[in-house]
Amino acid sequence: MSENKKPEKITHVKGMNDILPAEAPLWELFENTVHSVLKSYGFQKIVTPIVEDTALFKRAIGAVTDIVEKEMYSFTDAMNGDALTLRPEGTAGVVRSVIEHNLAYDGPKRVWYKGPMFRHEKMQAGRYRQFFQVGAEAIGFAGPDIDAEMIMLCRRLWDDLGLENIRLELNSIGDAPERHRHRADLIAYFEAHIDQLDLEAKNRLHANPLRILDTKNPAMQELVNNAPKLLDYLEAESIAHFDGVRRILDHNNIPYTVNPRLVRGLDYYNRTVFEWVTDQLGAQGTVCAGGRYDPLIESFGGKSTPAVGFAMGIERLIMLMKSAGEMADPGVCDVYMVHQGAAAQMQAFVLAERIRDAGLDVVLHCAAASGPGSFKNQMKKADGSGAAFAVILGDDEIANATAVVKAMREVDKDKQQASVPFDEVVDYLVDQIVGGHDHDHDHVHYHH
Ligand code: ATP
Ligand code: MG
Repeated sequence: MSENKKPEKITHVKGMNDILPAEAPLWELFENTVHSVLKSYGFQKIVTPIVEDTALFKRAIGAVTDIVEKEMYSFTDAMNGDALTLRPEGTAGVVRSVIEHNLAYDGPKRVWYKGPMFRHEKMQAGRYRQFFQVGAEAIGFAGPDIDAEMIMLCRRLWDDLGLENIRLELNSIGDAPERHRHRADLIAYFEAHIDQLDLEAKNRLHANPLRILDTKNPAMQELVNNAPKLLDYLEAESIAHFDGVRRILDHNNIPYTVNPRLVRGLDYYNRTVFEWVTDQLGAQGTVCAGGRYDPLIESFGGKSTPAVGFAMGIERLIMLMKSAGEMADPGVCDVYMVHQGAAAQMQAFVLAERIRDAGLDVVLHCAAASGPGSFKNQMKKADGSGAAFAVILGDDEIANATAVVKAMREVDKDKQQASVPFDEVVDYLVDQIVGGHDHDHDHVHYHH
């Protein structure tokens, strides 16, 4: 038996990705931008658990959907036998929470959420098993105005993110009676062409024929294109609602195309549905999808409450940001503390805290596996850190109660290095980093 066999490496679960530090600034840029856009439209954050009762998703999403049929991470809680599921999307949990806490009964609410979603899908570029969404729900609003507002919110976000080439596709899927009549004709149409349906479509023919329109099978595209169009079945109220959305979009110069085949993957939608699509990501081109879901809350035992929402896939948007050459502040520190000797180390801790009190970012040199590091080694680290200044402490500095403050990025030779009494180090750095105009202080969070 080999006692010193190397332990086997454990790797990530397929389809569930790490977001590494090098990528984090771009994610932060995205998140900060979307937060401020949501805030500028009056949306408030809501956080719901990642795990919910399996029954919640079955009811909200519908039994005959990709998600519920084959994509959910469902499990039995070993402690008490509860049937639980990792959330595959965000709306169900938000709606549950809104009903449970009576959030929308004293007037309509605009809320947003963000976080990981889980779907056991076939993996492709842009399609993962854990992925992140930002979504928004406007609950208690009945008119076309809020539908248009949510679409315009997305448009503003793409602009703020510097993303071009995301186009809007729009449709109305009407209300239940209209869908019912369309459904009967749709089934009849597909039955008349049964030989052209693939197995999945055949299985859905009677359970959820609308979903067949969603097919990605190239062989079925022509058949689906010629199928009866739900838009032709809409009656006065649905038409008026759809026209209302379009009027606001037109008035605000928001371009869109009406796509009669757009039906959305989830069961609870009615009337307005929309998708934001790009051609830059291959087959996974939908970056945001949304629509109205007026019947959902009542079907959950809540008071009848109309609502509309959208969800966007963050990974796909990050890919677009990358291909647009979007750069994010890498988040370098302001100051790197270099020290040699026990007394200098103690003083370095004290000074570093004081500098942080003033709102600057400080990296204090700490010992690596190879030891505390020579002066030369620490200066190399300071340089690599991207810090604007190194603060250097050794035996001499301790004896004189002064620190050497060295400009690491300074072009002006006079300012390269100064001996600064301990008591004045903070003011000196603040003055140099925040006060001067010849520095790049994008990353300084100094506030007074
Ligand atoms: P698709 O048709 O691509 O499967 P969907 O209709 O299942 O999309 P939604 O449930 O509407 O997707 O989710 C909203 C958005 O979340 C999508 O437009 C997409 O940007 C993103 N998204 C959905 N599933 C995934 C996934 N598995 N990996 C990465 N992003 C995803
Ligand atoms: Mg899907």
